[in-house]
Amino acid sequence: MPAASLDTIANLAKKRGFVFQSSEIYGGLRSAYDYGPLGVELLRNVKDQWWQSMVRERGDIVGLDSAVLQARQVWVASGHEAEFTDPLVECTNCNNRFRVDKLSDKNQCPTCGKRDTFTEPRQFNLLFTTHMGPVEDEGAKVYLRPETAQGIFINYENVRRTSRLKLPFGIAQIGKAFRNEITPGQFVFRTREFEQMEMEFFCHPSESADWYDYWQQERLGWYVDLGLPSEDVRLREHDPDELSHYSAGTSDVEFQFPWGWDELEGIANRTDFDLRQHTEHSGVDLRYYDQEADERFFPHVIEPAAGATRTTFAFLLAAYDEEEVRGETRTVLRLDARLAPIKVAVLPLSKKDDLIPDTEAVAAALRPRWAVEVDVTQAIGRRYRRQDEIGTPYCVTIDFDTLDDRAVTIRDRDTMAQDRVAIDRVPTYLAERLPG
Ligand code: ATP
Repeated sequence: MPAASLDTIANLAKKRGFVFQSSEIYGGLRSAYDYGPLGVELLRNVKDQWWQSMVRERGDIVGLDSAVLQARQVWVASGHEAEFTDPLVECTNCNNRFRVDKLSDKNQCPTCGKRDTFTEPRQFNLLFTTHMGPVEDEGAKVYLRPETAQGIFINYENVRRTSRLKLPFGIAQIGKAFRNEITPGQFVFRTREFEQMEMEFFCHPSESADWYDYWQQERLGWYVDLGLPSEDVRLREHDPDELSHYSAGTSDVEFQFPWGWDELEGIANRTDFDLRQHTEHSGVDLRYYDQEADERFFPHVIEPAAGATRTTFAFLLAAYDEEEVRGETRTVLRLDARLAPIKVAVLPLSKKDDLIPDTEAVAAALRPRWAVEVDVTQAIGRRYRRQDEIGTPYCVTIDFDTLDDRAVTIRDRDTMAQDRVAIDRVPTYLAERLPG
């Protein structure tokens, strides 16, 4: 189980500037969140790590950034306009609405506690609608994309042709998605605007089962490598009755959230469903031609689809730790250094003028490489505590001895061990310890 409760993380996130409620000064917009100075760094690091492992470190996957607004026909072809629905019930006593498949007791309202007060379920479409141009009629209707994946399928041929990749190959995309969720909640776990990290891996139909297995292991390993404890993440294969009609297999990467196991990422074998649909609806032949075999066919697709914002939340939950140090409780975010929003804090022991030039010089030497924070206020103990609480792996302290010995103290977040290091060796010392 993660050490932290949802409230602990939500409070820390707000107090330290990771995540704020959207439109807070107007009373807040439910289920939308803003990422503050530390949150935006953390979220960016999560996305960078995904991009690094999916695109930069491989020769067979390229990136894409497609538009949020797409032709309405895209969502007709994908099935979203007709079928992107969740079953909704309303409690006739308190008028709250719920997604039936997420209710722990299908007959009892979780808000007012009354039994047998639900209406019959109806299918509620999650697409956000808006209009293109000045006239708000049916012909101008467009949707905010509910997933990044379709932007990849409709660019499949553009990317294949221009990148000159041969099967198997993948296209990766990170970006915003919008779903008018019936029951958003659990902080940033389920929101109406969120970010996804999705990759479509195109392969020969005969190889899709192997690639499906490969991507499950690969994706599970990514989370563990970046610090989710292996006992708190697992793969869960969907039961046949959970599968979409086109899916030849789906499994979720699940994390042990404070409320139990829940989804971080879905890995699906989508067969040739999407390319076939877009071929039929657009009239453009999206089949692949294999010159050597003189064969034309629809590639099959394995899709690892992760949530950037949801994953960031999981990393925060897993990193949170409290320990007793000399009779006091120390809160520390044990984030992997690659994810930590600030890598190095530079702290003069006092804000007296004498120490400021060295402080500025050390910070300036580190800034081209790492996210650095200079903090001059409050007692040094409190400043260490703040850095521990936001997960900063190293603190560099400039003290009055620095003026004579030209050395500084470097403190390790996890062990709290301190090393005295020559001031001009600080970048090397840190480079040996901070990956990336
Ligand atoms: P659910 O069944 O929980 O509604 P889903 O299975 O429909 O989710 P996918 O369509 O597979 O979700 O989306 C891929 C990933 O995008 C999810 O695993 C999750 O990490 C993220 N995601 C989906 N919906 C949301 C949301 N409303 N808020 C935050 N992240 C989301």
